[in-house]
Amino acid sequence: MNRRELFRGIGAAGIVTLLSRKRASATTAEPSRRGLPALKITDIKAITTAPSGIRLTVVKVETNEPGLYGLGCATFNQRTLPVKVAVDEYLKPFAVGRSADDIEDLWQNAYTSSYWRNGPVLNNALSGLDQALWDIKGKRAGMPVYQLLGGRCRFAVDTYAHCGGRDVIELQDDVQKQMAEGYRHVRIQLGGYGAAHLSQQADFRTAGFGEPKDGHMDVFPYISSTPKMFAHIRKTCGEEIELLHDIHERIPPIDAINLIKSLEEFRPYFIEDPFAPEANGWFKMLREQTSVPIAMGELFNNPHEWVDLIVNRHIDYIRVHLSQIGGLTPGRKLATLAEQFQVLTAWHGPGDVSPVGHAANAHLDLAVHNFGIQERVLFDEATQEVFPGCPTMKNGYMMVHEAPGWGVDINEAAAAKYPLPEHPGYWSPIRRRDGTAVRP
Ligand code: MG
Repeated sequence: MNRRELFRGIGAAGIVTLLSRKRASATTAEPSRRGLPALKITDIKAITTAPSGIRLTVVKVETNEPGLYGLGCATFNQRTLPVKVAVDEYLKPFAVGRSADDIEDLWQNAYTSSYWRNGPVLNNALSGLDQALWDIKGKRAGMPVYQLLGGRCRFAVDTYAHCGGRDVIELQDDVQKQMAEGYRHVRIQLGGYGAAHLSQQADFRTAGFGEPKDGHMDVFPYISSTPKMFAHIRKTCGEEIELLHDIHERIPPIDAINLIKSLEEFRPYFIEDPFAPEANGWFKMLREQTSVPIAMGELFNNPHEWVDLIVNRHIDYIRVHLSQIGGLTPGRKLATLAEQFQVLTAWHGPGDVSPVGHAANAHLDLAVHNFGIQERVLFDEATQEVFPGCPTMKNGYMMVHEAPGWGVDINEAAAAKYPLPEHPGYWSPIRRRDGTAVRP
């Protein structure tokens, strides 16, 4: 039916009704902006700073409304400068002049603006823009971002503390100290990244292979000491404390499976990062072998890496690094996908996330039903000087600063006092006894 036939069919009265409906919808479409003028992006810049010695990157997005700007985390500690270039030289010219209101539209188009996509540098740059737009939307609405996501599911964000020591006695002291401060969950580790100090003689150094400063980690000392560590902490710190542990992907997959099975009797809360991200195919075997809860995802960048693990229920906690996957917009979708499969969230929250990024983690934690646990963060004085409004900790809970947006601001003059360290930030090699490279 063409237009003429349509109009003939409905008659003059019908045409008047249609036109009046069209006018009505035209007038009702406008109030979706609630009378606010269209908001345009006028400037974007990446700000780098290192108040605690860690390279932080925050993207500031300014708008045509005087004084209205947003902040987003784009921190990639190991590759700071490529992210800054991606923001300043590519995202800025792409996004300036576009609507700051339409976050989803801008995310989708910025995501594909490089054609090739899904890598950590571009995803971090995109996160900076995305989170800044959510900050702006919250400020415009006069609400914390968690309210825009549906409001709170809980009064605060439960967290786990990192505990470590060179031996089980030092570790026990640390666990008991955290328990006294109110923590109900602790991650227990002997030494850093697999207890290098427990390893055998580093023959590669004697042989002059690699550099003397290269790290060292052997499989057997780690996998034999870990069940003993759990046994000691269970015995000395009690049944109630929840125990977490991170394998850091640094042992062969079959050894990780055997190790996790040997920890069953100690009731771990979760075991993190059993396999390297390239080894996702091992999760099915792991699941068939043990019911110990598994957390995975901090090295993931895109849906190819997490969708199958979630829909096949091969993991229990998804713990991506929100800025590595492109910000809050993909993060809340991932949380919703996980909810359908009873997978809980445990967003990665180490020191190399800016306070803006930690706030984004916490706002999402507050708003999603399938929140599991959050990695604790403590901010030193210098970081709080640069970022007024950092999330705070009390009795093991994280609280956001209750202000519109993320609740975190930046003092750019203070940020400039803390330039990036001279070392560019790359990770140094870790080797087995014979010098073979170990990869996380
Ligand atoms: Mg980890």
